[in-house]
Amino acid sequence: MTNPKTDMRDDIKEVVVSEQEIKAENKRLAAKISSHYDDGEEVIMVGILRGAVIFMADLAREIDSPVIFDFMDVSSYGKDAYTSGNVRIIKDLEENIEGKHVLIVEDIIDTGLTMKRVVNLLQTRDPASIKIVTLLDKPERRVQKKVQVDYNGFEVPDEFVVGYGLDYAEKYRNLPFIGALKEHLYS
Ligand code: 5GP
Repeated sequence: MTNPKTDMRDDIKEVVVSEQEIKAENKRLAAKISSHYDDGEEVIMVGILRGAVIFMADLAREIDSPVIFDFMDVSSYGKDAYTSGNVRIIKDLEENIEGKHVLIVEDIIDTGLTMKRVVNLLQTRDPASIKIVTLLDKPERRVQKKVQVDYNGFEVPDEFVVGYGLDYAEKYRNLPFIGALKEHLYS
């Protein structure tokens, strides 16, 4: 049996952030990030799996400081498309971050609950600093107001977006842009 052929782009209602806009924003964010660390100072980039992988790969190549890659896998259970309050650590870091500069890399911050959980955990390990970079931000939906985002890419409206690492049911991650998914596909 063969899989039916589908065109991912047919499921997109509209492009929210284009490929060119993402490229330009990555350069801007990386320049800002590079300027905040001293020359040659090492930074541990902590990517939140799996959505941040593509952003992290592109962003890292624009950053001047030497970086180490590490990843955390965090999941929430409850609803399908959005975060419930229950955030579970599925995969922890491999690196010891004590005394090190940590840059958490996230694809999107929505309610802020995932980020709050990750920051609280990493803070207990006495890093030299923790900073947060997110490509997308949905400030309208923020529940956890105490999350301080240091580097923020694009504000997006309260719509479910996919592409450039972000999925719905593991699909659409390899679209090169960010698009709003047609509502009937996830609601
Ligand atoms: P938060 O804990 O801030 O509510 O949610 C963060 C996580 O929820 C993101 O890492 C992402 O996995 C998921 N999320 C929130 N909004 C969206 C969205 O519009 N599209 C996708 N694909 N994931 C989202």
